Amino acid sequence: MLSRLCPNLYVDSLHHIDLSHLRDIGVRGIVFDIDNTVTMWGSNEIAPTTLKWLEGAKTHGFRVCLLSNNRKARIDDISRMLDIPSAKGFKPFGSAFRSALCLLGTSPQETTIIGDQIFTDILGGNRAGLYTILVQPMSTNEFITTKLLRRLEKIVLRKLACRGLLTRKD
Ligand SMILES: [Mg+2]
Repeated sequence: MLSRLCPNLYVDSLHHIDLSHLRDIGVRGIVFDIDNTVTMWGSNEIAPTTLKWLEGAKTHGFRVCLLSNNRKARIDDISRMLDIPSAKGFKPFGSAFRSALCLLGTSPQETTIIGDQIFTDILGGNRAGLYTILVQPMSTNEFITTKLLRRLEKIVLRKLACRGLLTRKD
């Protein structure tokens, strides 16, 4: 079970992800979580540096999409602002990832999911066969249930690190 919770890569933020490396390992599509990955939780504001990074991903030729279980109206707003297509779905369920893959037109093996939560983004991505990248949450503002899950995440991350399974890139 622990291996299902282990990201292929663990970084501080999007800015620590090497797009050339992703291309080298065969990634063609990128699925982005929204809250606390590309925006602060509940916010529709996108930092200029994040916008630039996302534009860079597109100009590098990656197919990109958003995947969130947030309200559809909010997902659509962010999607329009970023000019990135979006799928709504409940992670970690497989149907959410199948919707995103369908949108991208890529196979699981050539797709990565980038998100800030182990029990949704990483667990779901691993089960669906994607390359999984965990980022640090952009803020500590989030649902109370997520705050509780963060405690479990810390335990999981500690165990993964102790077993030498966590690939951390600073
Ligand atoms: Mg998130």
